[in-house]
Amino acid sequence: MEFLFKILFVGEAGVGKTALIRRYVDNVFSYKYRYTIGVDFALKVVDLDEKTTVRLQLWDIAGQERFGVMTRVYYKESAACVIAFDITERRTFEAAKKWKADLDSKVHLPNGDPVPCILVANKCDLEPRPVPREEIDQFVRDNGFVDWFETSAKDAINVDKAMKFLIYKVLNSN
Ligand code: GDP
Ligand code: MG
Repeated sequence: MEFLFKILFVGEAGVGKTALIRRYVDNVFSYKYRYTIGVDFALKVVDLDEKTTVRLQLWDIAGQERFGVMTRVYYKESAACVIAFDITERRTFEAAKKWKADLDSKVHLPNGDPVPCILVANKCDLEPRPVPREEIDQFVRDNGFVDWFETSAKDAINVDKAMKFLIYKVLNSN
């Protein structure tokens, strides 16, 4: 079986969306990324097992974050979403709520369910940690995320794990 899924990456500027995609797709990290305005996307093919191949289109909102919302066109036909924040910056955690509300107000699965969405607490290689774990747990439950992961695009922590989890969620919601 082959599947094609569109997966969105959203969240405040600077939280590491592009870095997460680069780590996941090309297994590299840099402190500097080409700054693109508009929407950029990357492709990744994942062989889940001998019979199942998943093609992912990873959409990066390069430079549009400052508007705080995305257009319906961007969200259209997405199968899943990654909302990222910077674990060292509380403001970006609080903004995740707004991004989730924007997502849920603009797109649903064909059956009407919300699009499966994980929350990613990126830059876990850094200190400090202004948001306690229990608060993130509660936030995830209150705002309808399927789960959350601490990640580091820099040190390649949990990026594959989070994405694999999300892919299985999508397969089970189809
Ligand atoms: P975006 O605006 O959300 O796409 O953020 P970028 O991917 O451009 O990352 C913003 C900055 O944070 C860049 O300098 C990245 O190198 C850095 N960065 C991204 N992820 C990590 C991470 O996991 N750890 C550390 N230490 N820095 C990161
Ligand atoms: Mg970016």
